[in-house]
Amino acid sequence: MWFSCYDQLDDKDLEYMMSIYPIKLIEDEDWPNGKLCPTEFSYSDKDIKVKKSYYLLGDPCLWLMHEYVHAFMLNVHGTRPKINDKYPDNSIETCAFVNQFRRLIANGVNTDTIMNNVKFKCLKRYFIEYSDIMNKYWNRAMELT
Ligand SMILES: [Zn+2]
Repeated sequence: MWFSCYDQLDDKDLEYMMSIYPIKLIEDEDWPNGKLCPTEFSYSDKDIKVKKSYYLLGDPCLWLMHEYVHAFMLNVHGTRPKINDKYPDNSIETCAFVNQFRRLIANGVNTDTIMNNVKFKCLKRYFIEYSDIMNKYWNRAMELT
């Protein structure tokens, strides 16, 4: 069974995932150098690692939502990344990004906000580094909203 991108994770799903996959704050100096994303769902440790300075901003980019989609897909459907999956252009990331973007759009965020507001700089870097894929995910999220 596949988690459909059309089915947005609701607050109850999120709460349940948060109760089984705790957040682990990581000091900035211990965060891997050059890692674009300030959060990470760990399939081995079964937790969500978050760079402390980003966490203190209050998760403006909704990266936690993104990671909880990974947690949900693993927990409910046993879905894990495949060895030949290309990042971030694969079916798991499609669901994670489209859910993240749908919620951002619902919160009134648009791509101008992402490109110009300093709080969104870690997401802006994705839109620069992977512009085709991120725009594809954003447009999909717009269609669904
Ligand atoms: Zn992801």
